[in-house]
Amino acid sequence: MQEKGTISIHTENIFPIIKKFLYSDHEIFLRELVSNAVDATQKLKRLASLGQFSGEVGDTTIEISFDETAQTITIADKGIGMTGEEIKKYINQIAFSGATEFMEKFKEANDANEIIGRFGLGFYSAFMVADKVEIQSLSYQSGAEPARWICEGSTEFEISEGNRLRRGTEVILHVNDDNKDFLNEHRLQQILDKYCRFLPIAIKFGTKTKSVADGEDAEGKTKYKEIEVDNIVNTTSPLWTKTPADLKDEDYLSFYRELYPMSEEPLFWIHLNVDYPFNLTGILYFPKVKNELELQRNKIQLYSRQVFITDEVKDIVPEFLMLLHGVINSPDIPLNVSRSFLQADGNVKKINNYITKKVADKLLELFKADRKSYEEKWNDIGLFVKYGIISEEKFEEKAKDFTLLKNTSNEYFTTEEYHQKVNSTQTDKDGTLVYLYASDVQKQDSFIQSANRKGYDVLVMDGPLDTHYISHLERKGEKLALKRVDADVINKLIEKEESFEDVLTEEQRNMVKEIFTKAINKGNMQVEVSAHNPLEAPVTVTMDEFMRRMKDMSKMGGPYSFYGAMPENYKVSINANHQLISKILGTKDEAQQEKLAKQAFDLALLSQGMLTGSDLTEFVNRSVALI
Ligand code: ADP
Repeated sequence: MQEKGTISIHTENIFPIIKKFLYSDHEIFLRELVSNAVDATQKLKRLASLGQFSGEVGDTTIEISFDETAQTITIADKGIGMTGEEIKKYINQIAFSGATEFMEKFKEANDANEIIGRFGLGFYSAFMVADKVEIQSLSYQSGAEPARWICEGSTEFEISEGNRLRRGTEVILHVNDDNKDFLNEHRLQQILDKYCRFLPIAIKFGTKTKSVADGEDAEGKTKYKEIEVDNIVNTTSPLWTKTPADLKDEDYLSFYRELYPMSEEPLFWIHLNVDYPFNLTGILYFPKVKNELELQRNKIQLYSRQVFITDEVKDIVPEFLMLLHGVINSPDIPLNVSRSFLQADGNVKKINNYITKKVADKLLELFKADRKSYEEKWNDIGLFVKYGIISEEKFEEKAKDFTLLKNTSNEYFTTEEYHQKVNSTQTDKDGTLVYLYASDVQKQDSFIQSANRKGYDVLVMDGPLDTHYISHLERKGEKLALKRVDADVINKLIEKEESFEDVLTEEQRNMVKEIFTKAINKGNMQVEVSAHNPLEAPVTVTMDEFMRRMKDMSKMGGPYSFYGAMPENYKVSINANHQLISKILGTKDEAQQEKLAKQAFDLALLSQGMLTGSDLTEFVNRSVALI
């Protein structure tokens, strides 16, 4: 029996498309063929469990091999196999998926999802690397004859009697010269590790050596010998397929190490498991992120029925959770479709919401179970939470209860607790509640101290997202303003009715202003003289909150870059009530007056880490001379 024919009309122009455009990554031919082998094996097992196959299932290991000289790669399974008629039907008519028919037949089966073919043109991806593809198959059906199919990458095929003696299918790729680099053990192993690591049927690729005990030597010590064993490339039941209740922390940690060998231990994890209205399993780990936002992306691996698909999960996982690590397995995510389609897909949206909710629930649970340990992890967790709050409304609602604010004394408060704490002391004369914050506790120390002297609290906002988070808090809060401690002198940051009696006359104030303006002699430094607590610093240099925020924003680029070009204007506040100011006024020698003013100004800069370069050198020299 031999028959020649033409592959169904749908395929007329499909080969050049497959070769060039369909898959940018040629290596996935192996993923597709191995997936088919897995499907065929699962189908057989399914039939056996339904009592529709009475033969021996036996070993079902899928074997992959290559021959460098013959330039072939072979994928052999012990699955259901195909008769000649089936090959014609399933392989030749590309648009017709055999799995669809199979599904019709076994709709009643529970884990039907397992056998849905989802890759469309799967088999034909073989032609990305091979000019000639051969199938040798023997169907599981009793009395079936082996069949052989061969196609040389045109729409013509040949089907004839085959030589396979064992149940199952063998796909032999005659690799073309352009793709010869696939005929390499290391390369194939690498592809298998990437895509097939967690496939549910054992896959063998070559052999490896293993040392085993081999009797005892003369001194009674165990002897070892090296033997060859099958090299199985996959774990057939990865952790996410197991029941959470059966797993211990150590299981999750070791799975994490397996996925990310070089990483630090994760903080905690979430086991995802849902089967309605979509099917999804997986484990998401919270890594220690610190501030390397970008580095951590693309760490979540997406699987469909345990076949690795991609680690670019953008649009499938909410943006803010892209920083997580782990695996997501779902047959309900449409694959090989455009990104814009993904975003609009109903299942993908539901998956997004589900993951968001799960993460929020887990965080609340951790917060409630052990607040202290949650606080200790806040530096790491805070980044996700803030990212989530800013970018995902659904998450924001939930996050209220487990978002923490940290102050300069390392105390943590929920937003509600913090409101209670400072509401009575930090509300200004217009009824606006002011939260003070520091972005650099070291540099802004003198300001923090002066806020604390007034009995005010100062938050620490030094994270990479805090600029956005601050705006967010203000937008959400009613009559709430956030001001950085160094945005003005403390009396002006939170203006109250009380005012300090001024020891200077107006004339004296003008004189002080003149002396300092002359001594500083910088266009971007505006001198202002006003009366403050005599214990406050004599001179304070500040940048207006609004101005500084614009500057900060400009560093992030985008529409705000414009502000980057604006000059940096500062305010130099002179505390008229400070002793030093009276002393400067009392000094008769004009040169000496200027020197003292300059010295006081430089000291203010110095305390804020703003004195650098030649100004610093000059200051040091002047100080030495004064001593
Ligand atoms: P899909 O897997 O999406 O259906 P493919 O082009 O990969 O598309 O395969 C077409 C059909 O050919 C499959 O549905 C299946 O019926 C059959 N087939 C492919 N590979 C095998 C195999 N190794 N064993 C048995 N049948 C197979």
